[in-house]
Amino acid sequence: MNSAEEQFSNQKSIYREIFLKSADEINARLAKLKPENVTGDLFDKYENNSSGRNWQFECKELLKGEISAEIYRKMKEILAYRTQFSCAGCATCCKLACSEFSLAELKQKALNGDKFATQFLSVFVPYETKEEAKKVYPEYIELLKQKNCEDVYFYHCPKLTEDNRCSDYENRPQICRDFPDNPLSILPVSCGFKAWKDEINPIALMLHSMLEIIDFYLKKLDEATK
Ligand code: SF4
Ligand code: SF4
Repeated sequence: MNSAEEQFSNQKSIYREIFLKSADEINARLAKLKPENVTGDLFDKYENNSSGRNWQFECKELLKGEISAEIYRKMKEILAYRTQFSCAGCATCCKLACSEFSLAELKQKALNGDKFATQFLSVFVPYETKEEAKKVYPEYIELLKQKNCEDVYFYHCPKLTEDNRCSDYENRPQICRDFPDNPLSILPVSCGFKAWKDEINPIALMLHSMLEIIDFYLKKLDEATK
C-alpha cells in the first residue's frame, strides 16, 4: 500500500467488511443483555420501567462505558506503538497541512477557545494558490479532486528552512511533535510513520467503525427512550 490513491482505495475496500464484523460483535454483546421475557427489538418503544426499557438503558451504559473504554484503550495503544517509529525528515507535513477550515474560520475558532486552531495558526500560514500546494504532494491533491473532496484549504509552515529543517525545532508545538496522530491519515511514501500506519490500519479502521456504530446506536436508543 503505497500511493495516496492505493491507500485510499485499500481503506475503502476493507472498511465495509470491517464495519459489518464490528456491527455483528456489538449486536451480539447487546443481545446478551436482552431479558428472556422481551420479545421486541432494541429500538422499539417500551413502557417506562418495563424489562424492554431497562434493557435499552443497560445497552446505553455498555456502549458508553465498557465498549467506549475499550476503544479508547486500544487507540492509546496504537498511538503508543507509534513511538517505535520515527520521523524521516522529509518535511512534507511542514510543507503541506490540510484543513477543512479557511484562515478566517480558524481565526474565529481560535477566538472561541479552540486549542487545536490556536496551535495550528501558531505554525501554519495559507498557500496563496492551490497550485503552489500541489507542487509539494501532487498525487494527494489530485486524489482529493478525484474524490470530490475539494473543500480543503492548504497551509505551510514558514519556519521550514530551504534545506527542509525546522528553524525552531526545540520549540515546535505539540501538533508537530504528535504528527501523524490520526492513524487513518493518508501519508506520503516518504513518511517514516507510514510503516506504522500500514501495520495498525486494520485495527484503526475497526475502532473507527465501532465509534460510528456506537454513535448510531446511542442516537436510536435516545429516540426510543424519549
Ligand atoms: S514548526 Fe518546525 S516541525 Fe512544525 S511545521 Fe514548522 S518547520 Fe515543521
Ligand atoms: S511527513 Fe513524516 S517523515 Fe516527513 S517530516 Fe512529517 S512526520 Fe517526518
